[in-house]
Amino acid sequence: MEVPGPAALKVEANVLVMGADNVGKSALTVRFLTRRFIGEYGDMEFIYSHNLTVDGREILFHIWDVPNSQEQAEEGSLEEKRIQWADSFVLVYSICDRASFNILPLKIQFIKAAKEGQSQEKVPIVIVGNKRDLHHQREVSSEEGRLLALSLDCGFYEVSAAEAYHGALMVFHGLAERIPDHKLALKKGTGIRGIVKTMSAVFARKRTDSL
Ligand code: GDP
Ligand code: MG
Repeated sequence: MEVPGPAALKVEANVLVMGADNVGKSALTVRFLTRRFIGEYGDMEFIYSHNLTVDGREILFHIWDVPNSQEQAEEGSLEEKRIQWADSFVLVYSICDRASFNILPLKIQFIKAAKEGQSQEKVPIVIVGNKRDLHHQREVSSEEGRLLALSLDCGFYEVSAAEAYHGALMVFHGLAERIPDHKLALKKGTGIRGIVKTMSAVFARKRTDSL
């Protein structure tokens, strides 16, 4: 006879996917959520919810896929709000876009200052070099990516959101492994399963028509 185990604890994590425009943030997110690559993703702002079981621990990810950057002044305060919301981070660059790689150290230092100032714990961050399939256009070597991650104490993956699901899965798996149990809000028996697409009503950018 099967003995029922203790009620499974469901934990939640708020993940912010950051990086320069056009590096494949949406492609990576959608690949993780649906296992598919669509090609064009538009520029909508979504928070997606998705379950993943890692080492027997079920995690409900809330993943914020941010739109392309707008005005500089507005962008700064929006980014701060998003960083406050998140408790873990995926920083994406394109291996064929050197500039997208170069902006990462500052962004990561900014995140660390904002999050680690509040506690002694290191913030879970994974760096992702995307578009690995475009190796003939490569501008950033794997070694550089790995060294950056090592120096900033982050996870590192090189992937192609266009070519495979596995890389996207590894990214979120690796992120989950970096999140300590007690950092996650514990929730018993949350009934959300599969993919839920939620417009980020609370956090959505206020679109103003003024100059
Ligand atoms: P975002 O602005 O960072 O969200 O980037 P998108 O996800 O919208 O992707 C930007 C463009 O790069 C789109 O045309 C995608 O089809 C393309 N793209 C995304 N990931 C890959 C990849 O791994 N390989 C290739 N070749 N193209 C990709
Ligand atoms: Mg996008």
